[in-house]
Amino acid sequence: MVYLNGDFIPKHQASISVMDRGFLFGDGVYEVIPVYAGKIFRLNEHLQRLQNSLDSIQVSNPYSNEQWLDILQKILNFSSKSNQSLYLQITRGADSCRKHSFESLSPTVFVESNSLTPKTKAELKVGFGAIIQTDFRWQRCDIKSTSLLANIMYSQQAKHHQVEEVILHREQTITEGATSNVFAIKDNTLFTHPTGTHILSGITRDLVLESAKHCNLNIQESAPTLAELLAADEVWISSSTREVMPITHVDQQPINNGKIGNHWSNVYDHYQNLKHA
Ligand code: PLP
Repeated sequence: MVYLNGDFIPKHQASISVMDRGFLFGDGVYEVIPVYAGKIFRLNEHLQRLQNSLDSIQVSNPYSNEQWLDILQKILNFSSKSNQSLYLQITRGADSCRKHSFESLSPTVFVESNSLTPKTKAELKVGFGAIIQTDFRWQRCDIKSTSLLANIMYSQQAKHHQVEEVILHREQTITEGATSNVFAIKDNTLFTHPTGTHILSGITRDLVLESAKHCNLNIQESAPTLAELLAADEVWISSSTREVMPITHVDQQPINNGKIGNHWSNVYDHYQNLKHA
């Protein structure tokens, strides 16, 4: 079952107009929210980021936080799975003809949920590969936009190279991953790109920073260079569905001789505590 514009309906019955600007232009925003043991994790933070995305594209939020919670809870209740991943999408809505500029329209709201099976610590401990690419995305990566052509191109390259992620740089400065935030750890200090318009402000990024502080790492919200990333003791990526993952090879070069770091292990453990707190 999915939610579409006020109705809870089977997915195969859900349809939208071909004039929907989400379909025509990718004119919409979205959120992905993890649910653990039936509890929506960091809902307020996700709803705040959704609000920020909507404000940036001048779409009014169709629902209050209480209304969102009600919809999300109902969608979750259709499944017996206790760990789920909620997907919310709001597009600007359908117009009578295709034009780039817009009038005030009635937004299209879609919500679905899928089961979520985060990798176990043992599965993560094998380490993961990444490749490096120049960041050719636009300058408003802080908006969680459904226009994801660049990210799709990168993810297909990751698949082709059989790696977990594409790590992006703007003029040798690491911004983030195609679908994640990126961290480099060197001599007890964690480096990551500051929030702003060049990265998506990950909800998991904040949790990783909170966990890293708890594990006595120094936090430097300044972006590592590509050379610093390759020379780091540890490299991690984070996202709501992948949590915090160790990257042990970048462009086939080993990070820390391809070994999993102790800091990752400690931060991973604390993150698990936050999930179940
Ligand atoms: N950066 C990008 C480009 C992403 O697509 C994502 C998640 O999809 C993230 C960062 C991580 O965000 P979050 O931790 O809120 O899932």
